[in-house]
Amino acid sequence: MEKVTELFSSMVFDDATMEALLPKHTYKALQKTIKNGERLDSEVATVVANSMKDWAISKGATHYTHWFQPMTGVTAEKHDSFISPKDGGKIIMEFSGKELMQGEPDASSFPSGGIRATFEARGYTAWDATSYAFVKDGVLYIPTVFCSYGGEALDQKTALLRSMEAINKQALRILRLFGNEDVQKVNTTVGAEQEYFLVDKEQYDKRKDLIYTGRTLFGCRAPKGQELDDHYFGAIKPRVQAFMTELNEELWKLGVLAKTQHNEAAPAQHELAPVFTTTNIASDHNQLMMEFMQKIAKKHGMVCLLHEKPFAGVNGSGKHNNWSLSTDTGVNLLDPGDTPYENAQFLLFLAAVVKAVDEYQDLIRISVATAGNDHRLGAAEAPPAIVSIYLGTDLEEVVDAIISDKAYASAGTKETLKLGVHTIPRLPKDTTDRNRTSPFAFTGNKFELRSLGSSDSISECNTVLNTAVAEALDEFANELMMASDFESALHELVKRTFKEHKRIIFNGDGYDEAWVKEAKKRGLSNYKTAPDAIPHLLDQKNVELFMKHKVYSLRELEARKEVRLESYVKLIHIEVLTMLDMANKDILPAMSRFSAELADNIAKKSAMKFACEYEKNTLSLISEHLDLMYKAVRKLEDDEQAGNAITDISKCADFCRDVIIPDMEEIRRHSDAMEMVAEQKAWPYPSYGLLLFGVR
Ligand code: ADP
Ligand code: MG
Repeated sequence: MEKVTELFSSMVFDDATMEALLPKHTYKALQKTIKNGERLDSEVATVVANSMKDWAISKGATHYTHWFQPMTGVTAEKHDSFISPKDGGKIIMEFSGKELMQGEPDASSFPSGGIRATFEARGYTAWDATSYAFVKDGVLYIPTVFCSYGGEALDQKTALLRSMEAINKQALRILRLFGNEDVQKVNTTVGAEQEYFLVDKEQYDKRKDLIYTGRTLFGCRAPKGQELDDHYFGAIKPRVQAFMTELNEELWKLGVLAKTQHNEAAPAQHELAPVFTTTNIASDHNQLMMEFMQKIAKKHGMVCLLHEKPFAGVNGSGKHNNWSLSTDTGVNLLDPGDTPYENAQFLLFLAAVVKAVDEYQDLIRISVATAGNDHRLGAAEAPPAIVSIYLGTDLEEVVDAIISDKAYASAGTKETLKLGVHTIPRLPKDTTDRNRTSPFAFTGNKFELRSLGSSDSISECNTVLNTAVAEALDEFANELMMASDFESALHELVKRTFKEHKRIIFNGDGYDEAWVKEAKKRGLSNYKTAPDAIPHLLDQKNVELFMKHKVYSLRELEARKEVRLESYVKLIHIEVLTMLDMANKDILPAMSRFSAELADNIAKKSAMKFACEYEKNTLSLISEHLDLMYKAVRKLEDDEQAGNAITDISKCADFCRDVIIPDMEEIRRHSDAMEMVAEQKAWPYPSYGLLLFGVR
C-alpha cells in the first residue's frame, strides 16, 4: 500500500491542489466563493473548469458528472465525456465553465412531491463549491445541488446548505454580543458513525427478501444471537479485515476521514466512524461511505446490508450523528472551556440546543422517520421514539444549580452559580458510562443524535437541528441586544430557558416502560411510527420555523411530506409483494411437500406397527401453521388490493401501519414456527444461522 499520507485525498481537487494548479487570482476568487458563498464569475469558472479537467484527466478521468442527492436518500449521477469533435475526425477534451457551474440532467423521474408538475419538467444542478470535486472510476465528480427552475429544492442538500447559513448568521450575532469580532464563520460539524451488516454473498443470493427489500421478511432465530456479547469489539475476521482495509484505502483516496472500525453488538454487524467535518461535506462523505461499503463488500464475496433492521431478534443498525458548532478560528462552541467567560458562552449555546430540541422535538422525530427505522426506534435496542436530551449527571447538576439559584456543591463553593463569574468544573469527557438509551446525548463537547437509521441520509436531521438551534439563537440574540446589563440578562436568560425546557432533559433509562408514562406526563410527543410522525411536518409552528429562516418554502415542505409518505408506502408495497412471492412460490409448497413426506412415512411406519410420534407431532404442527399461514396470505392479498384503492397518501400510509404490517407479522409468525421444526433440507432459504455466522 502506498503511504497513507500520500494516498489521502489523492483523488480530490482539494484546497492544496487548487492552490498549486490555479493562477493566484483565480484561486483567491474561488476561495471567496467557497468561504462566503459569492457567485463565481464566468471567466473564473472557465479557468477553474479547465484546470479541473486537466487534473482529472491526469487521474484517469474521461467523463464528468454533476453528483447530487435527490429525495430518494441515495445519490444520483449521469456521466458526460469530455470529448468534443474537431475537424478531420479528431477530438479534443473539453470542459467549460458553464458545464462546471450548471447542469441540466433529464431527471424528471426523481420524486419531487409534485413540485415539478407545476414548473418545468426538468430540474437543474448547480456546483456546490463548498464540497470538493473528486475522481472516482474514471469520472470527475462535481458535488451539486439539484433544484427546479423555480429555484425550489428537489434534493437533500439545498436545504442543508440553507440551514448552515441560518445557524451561521445567528451564532455570529451571539458571538458579537460576547464581544467576539474575530470569528467570520460558524460551521456545524458532524461525525456520522455508520453501522452495517456483512453477509456471505452466496447465502444472500438465495434470499429474495434480502435482494428486494434489504431485510429478512422471514426467519426463525438462530440457536445463538448476541446474548454472549462476544462479537462486540471482538477480533475481526480475516475476510472482514480485508474488506475494511480496502474500504479505508478507497475512502482515504477521496479524502474521507475513515477513522475507527470495530465489530458491533450483533453477529455480522460492524461500524465505521469518520473524523468529523463540516456538515455538508460529512453528508457527501457518508454517501460515499455507504456506496463503497456496498461495492467493496461484493469484491470480497459479501453483501453489505445497510437496512435498519435486517434481522429480527438481533440489534438493528443506526447512524450516530455527532453534531457540534465550530468557529473558523477553531473553537468548538459546545466545549465548556476553562474560564468563566467560556463557560458562560457554552451554557448559552447549550441552552439554545435544549430549547431547540424541546420546541422542535417533533421535527427531529420526523427527520428520522422511515419504514425501516420503525423497526428500530422504541424496540429496546435503539433510542425510543420519544425525543429527549441526556446531559449526564455533572452537567445536569450545573443546570439544576442555575435554575434553583442554589449553591453548586461540586464547585466547592457556597455561593450560587453566576454565569460569567464562576467556572463550572471541567466536565469529564467520559464515554464509558454514556447513556446508550438516549436519542440525543451530550458527550462532553458535542451532541450525539442516535435515532437516525443506518440507510438514511444525514442531511434532513441536520437541517432540522441547524434550523431549530438557529431559531433559539435568534431569539436569544434579540433579547440580549436590548439588555443594559449583559451579564445579568445572560444569566436570567439561561436560567429561564433551562427552567422552561427542563422537561426535555432525561438522564434515566429510555428503554423503561415507566419513561413512556413519565414523558407523557411531561407533555413530550411520542410518534411511534413514520405515518404518525410525518404529517406533523406541516404543523404551523414547523412551517413558520423553516420559512422564517428561509430553509424550506411551504411548497418544499409539502413536497417533502408527500415524498416521505410515498416512499413509506412504496417500500411496504415492495415488502408485501416479496412476502407473497416467497410464501406462495417457496414456503407453502415446500411445507406441503414436507408434510406429505411425513404423512407417507407415518403410513408406512404404522403399517409396520412402528411408533411415529415425531412424524405425527411434527405433521400436526406443520399442518396447523400451514393452514393458518395460507389464510393469512389470502388476507394480505385482499388487504393489499384494498390498500391499492386508497388514493390519499396519508390514509394509505395509516392503512399500511394498521392493517398491512400486522398481516405481514401474522404470516411470518406461522412461517417461522414451521421453520423451527422443519427439516433443514426442506426449508427453501438459508437460515439466520448461516446468514449471521456465515462469513468466516
Ligand atoms: P465515541 O463516540 O465512539 O466514544 P468519539 O466521541 O471520539 O468516539 O467520536 C465519535 C464521533 O464523533 C466521531 O465521528 C468523531 O469524529 C465525532 N466528533 C468528535 N468531535 C466532534 C465535533 N466537535 N463535532 C462533530 N463530531 C465530532
Ligand atoms: Mg459514538
